[in-house]
Amino acid sequence: MGSYEFNVVSETWGFEMIEHETEVTRPTWIEIDLKAIQYNAKLIMEHAGATRLIAVVKADAYGHGAVAVTQALYDIGIRDFAVATISEALTLRQARVHDDFNILLLGVQDVSQVKLMAENRLMPAAGTLDWMKQAVVSLPDNQILDVHLAVDTGMGRMGANSQADVAAMYAFIQESRKLRLNGVFTHFATADDDNEAYYRQQVTKFYQWVGGAGIPKNYWHLANSGSALWHHDEIDTHTIRVGSVLYGFNPGSPALDMPIKLKNVLSLKSRMGAVHQLQAGESVSYGATYTAEQAQWVATLPIGYADGYLRRMGGMKVLVAGKATQVIGRITMDQIVIALDKKYPIGTEVTLIGRDGDEEITVENFANYAETIPHEILTSFGVRLPRIYH
Ligand SMILES: *Cc1c(COP(=O)(O)O)cnc(C)c1O
Repeated sequence: MGSYEFNVVSETWGFEMIEHETEVTRPTWIEIDLKAIQYNAKLIMEHAGATRLIAVVKADAYGHGAVAVTQALYDIGIRDFAVATISEALTLRQARVHDDFNILLLGVQDVSQVKLMAENRLMPAAGTLDWMKQAVVSLPDNQILDVHLAVDTGMGRMGANSQADVAAMYAFIQESRKLRLNGVFTHFATADDDNEAYYRQQVTKFYQWVGGAGIPKNYWHLANSGSALWHHDEIDTHTIRVGSVLYGFNPGSPALDMPIKLKNVLSLKSRMGAVHQLQAGESVSYGATYTAEQAQWVATLPIGYADGYLRRMGGMKVLVAGKATQVIGRITMDQIVIALDKKYPIGTEVTLIGRDGDEEITVENFANYAETIPHEILTSFGVRLPRIYH
């Protein structure tokens, strides 16, 4: 199976790398280059002129494994992380002995859970005055909850949506003994496409409302990946709040040109199980949609749509021995069949995402073929696929 260089597991993290040889019982796996994530984090900070980065590791770090990614970023000095749910946050808290890093909860949270959030030093986004009023009722007297004031400048999901609203919420936090402001933020709807007018409108609202309410700039964080990549000179970016760029992909769809060269992080690989020859007229997989016109070598790989190799990926390119070939017939739940130019030994490695020689299939290529975005592809890779870190 080849050998891998494993990250050193520090004593303070409860996380252990999967041992490739011993634990991977089905030869289909995801490889994750943690050094590339570290590189991308430093590069985007430099590019955006940021001194602080809030690493978005929601949805299991976009499918890369939240604990491993958090640990790798902690190792280069990142101390701020963001997830979507309380259980995602608790996974990170439990992975490390010390709670010496911040966890921001981006989504709307059930206000009845504020005690749990405060006890674990989780910082929810506060979206409305009502939410905060209920929060202070539910919090025990001696408990302080740090919050990030959400400002809705055009995303339409959550947050204060006028200057008066921002001012009222800020005043409420300042007057409350149980709430403490840790940040104020907005989320951009069009930072990664060419609708600049909408972006500017969001920026203007934020500056007017938040600046007008007198919230000091060191609390602000606006930039997501698109904004940090393409609009860093238009806004304050001392703190950026990014996910996609860490994982090395272009967040835009359709994609704009990348101003920096991020490193690719993830590869998806498998090994040939059965290798056999189809005779002319023989078909492959459900529906018999593919029929060999002449004698043809094919291989079966142990991966299917239950792993996130989506059913609509039929016909997709894969790499064998540095050359491109393709998936034939329908994708099934656990197996796919690929065309070969000749007979290969069982166990030959196949690259489904990643580089092999001069050929490369990026996660963007994969997502385009599936007519979706990389985010959806990455977060669809199932728990059945082991993550190998190196
Ligand atoms: C998911 C999310 C991000 C990260 O977005 P990217 O485009 O992946 O950088 C930032 N902020 C909020 C509020 C989010 O929900």
